[in-house]
Amino acid sequence: MNQLSLPSLKTVVDEVFREAGAIDAGNVTTYIPELARVDPALFALSVCDASGAMIDCGDTRHSFTLQSISKVLGYACVLECFDDETIMRHVGVEPTGEDFDSIIKLDRHKRPFNPMVNAGAIAVTDLLLTRFGAEAAERSLDFFARLIGKEKLSVDEAVLASEQRTSERNRAIAHLLRNFKILENPVEDVLALYFRHCAVEVTTCDLARLGMTLANGGCPPGGGDPVLCPETLRKLLSVTLTCGMYNYAGQWVFEVGFPAKSGVSGGLLGIVPGRYGIGVFSPRVDEKGSSPRGVRVQKRLSAKLNLHMFAPD
Ligand code: GLU
Repeated sequence: MNQLSLPSLKTVVDEVFREAGAIDAGNVTTYIPELARVDPALFALSVCDASGAMIDCGDTRHSFTLQSISKVLGYACVLECFDDETIMRHVGVEPTGEDFDSIIKLDRHKRPFNPMVNAGAIAVTDLLLTRFGAEAAERSLDFFARLIGKEKLSVDEAVLASEQRTSERNRAIAHLLRNFKILENPVEDVLALYFRHCAVEVTTCDLARLGMTLANGGCPPGGGDPVLCPETLRKLLSVTLTCGMYNYAGQWVFEVGFPAKSGVSGGLLGIVPGRYGIGVFSPRVDEKGSSPRGVRVQKRLSAKLNLHMFAPD
């Protein structure tokens, strides 16, 4: 697969960033009130290659919360810690075609369809709590930090408190899961950890680096030992590809063709196996909870750089 020189890549990335900046569709998320305080005009794009070279455009210093992108990291952690049978008892791997916060429809095995929707991520979080007990927050955040390539991650406490105060819908989902005996731990404990994961602060550079690590056999860009085992990566990327973009997932694979995960704060992570990690941030999101600018950026990069996994060379 031919890799562009850095200057040529930069030309393409700059052009895509400029073009996507013209889009102002969508609105900032308001159901987590603290997220509504963001400047809607912010826009950042980072692309990282396997050498660790980073191309940055726009507000790349601005940090935002992971929100649903944390579902990729939580599932990775669970895949590293539990055998398949245990995980599969709690959460499946089928796309739902439903909204991210759909009040659950369980599959025929009486478990959430996949770990990329809220119900599945809450089930995954429960497994982490069972495994790590009182250390679950510290252990999972250390794991997330290793994947992102940072010493330590910070949590936006205001966003965390805001979601904790208002998230009756997630509370309803968690109670239903507990009713079906999918959650072992008390609802409030599971949700406290789930919201904490969602409130981890990152920049687009962090997302691009994370994306490149996942695109690079689990090895940090620029060199270093793998932070995930190959089996975890295979499973994680498969589920991210088929379920990461919620009710847009099929169309996403059709048009863009690489694993990606969006979040309601406006972050979008792209993982282009063997080639790039892509991080986009723009706080206006559509009714599916994805940033229209972010979607456009990933679509245009896929087309211009021939990134679809089934594209002919
Ligand atoms: N914390 C959000 C929630 O659970 C994450 C949703 C998202 O980013 O799609 O509602």
